[in-house]
Amino acid sequence: MPFHVMIIPTLGCPSKCHYCWSSDVNSPVMSLDTVKDIVAWLKEFRDDNVTFTFHGGEPLLAGADFYKKALPLLQKGLKDRHVAFAMQTNLWLMTPEIARVLAKYNIPIGSSLDGPEDVNDFQRGKGYYQKTMKGYTIARENGLDVKFICTFTSHSIKHKDEIIQFFMDNGWNLKLHPALPSIKGDDPGKWALDAGEYGELLVYLLDTYLENWGRFEVMNIDHLCKCVFKRHGVVCTFVDCMGDTFAVGPDGSIYPCYRFIGMPKFVMGNVKDKPTMEDLMSSKAGKLMEKFKKFVDKNCKECAHIRYCRGGCPYNAIVPTDGKIKAVDPHCVAYKRIFDEIKERQNRDLLAGTSGLEGAIMGFDPMRMAAKPGVMAIMLKRI
Ligand code: SF4
Ligand code: SF4
Repeated sequence: MPFHVMIIPTLGCPSKCHYCWSSDVNSPVMSLDTVKDIVAWLKEFRDDNVTFTFHGGEPLLAGADFYKKALPLLQKGLKDRHVAFAMQTNLWLMTPEIARVLAKYNIPIGSSLDGPEDVNDFQRGKGYYQKTMKGYTIARENGLDVKFICTFTSHSIKHKDEIIQFFMDNGWNLKLHPALPSIKGDDPGKWALDAGEYGELLVYLLDTYLENWGRFEVMNIDHLCKCVFKRHGVVCTFVDCMGDTFAVGPDGSIYPCYRFIGMPKFVMGNVKDKPTMEDLMSSKAGKLMEKFKKFVDKNCKECAHIRYCRGGCPYNAIVPTDGKIKAVDPHCVAYKRIFDEIKERQNRDLLAGTSGLEGAIMGFDPMRMAAKPGVMAIMLKRI
């Protein structure tokens, strides 16, 4: 996992998605002094390449002037290493001015759309779809690359065929996100996707992906297959994320990840104090993350998938237990289901000696192969 710092310029957000837990209407906006503090902290903290993801709340609320000044501050301030940027936004506040600034820094955009307008607006609020599409058009006209994350909830799972068809018809690749319960919510499980259903959805997506090979891509399936093939996690959920991912809130507070932002008990330090790794990991939140790692080593030691699952996401793990480490990620059921399925199919493909392996060895692009592809084609695909 490369070093990843999430910057949360504000927890404010103009949208009111029914299952969202990360916005706070009273949140301040990060000052440029805090951005300078981030640079000063990182100069001493670590010297390896870093990816900054602007997340929220809604990061575009910070406005064009913030990005015009913050981006060069971060890039020039850390010019001794490679600095990359990304942004996760609902695009409502995208303007040509902001889009041009982001395009100058080649910032890939992740946005959120949960399917066709009626399905999307039922769970994200009336008018969401049209506002996002307006921002999408501005972003694309100004050369930005936009990918959509689709959140599946206990409601939208009933529309899975329609949702996948919608993504295929629009020529968009799919990245799925299961709606999560939250530590902050009053009714934390209402929209959450059941772990068993999530596992079946992943297997369904694997089949749909292979049946429509070359027409669209399902990024989660790419990642899951790569995890099994490399025997190492390739996304944060399936590695020990602690120590390689941090999030900085609007006031400069440092957290283990954006999912903990705004909860004082998970603050590890503040950028203005230039904490060292030891300082951060000796905080209460740092110790909690370390405890999760040790818990996984013990709890999952008999599991065939431990090397590339690592107990899943520590945030997910502590939601049902009020912030205590008592279990692994409750999506374990889903992870086992899909990892078992991928391994079984991999063994079958290898025995048959077809479905991607031969083609890849002979230098064919697995995406273009005429033969019916199997999981080996996904494993060998370049992502
Ligand atoms: S806490 Fe979860 S979402 Fe955050 S970096 Fe770790 S695995 Fe990823
Ligand atoms: S699948 Fe479940 S038991 Fe296996 S490593 Fe992942 S969380 Fe642990």
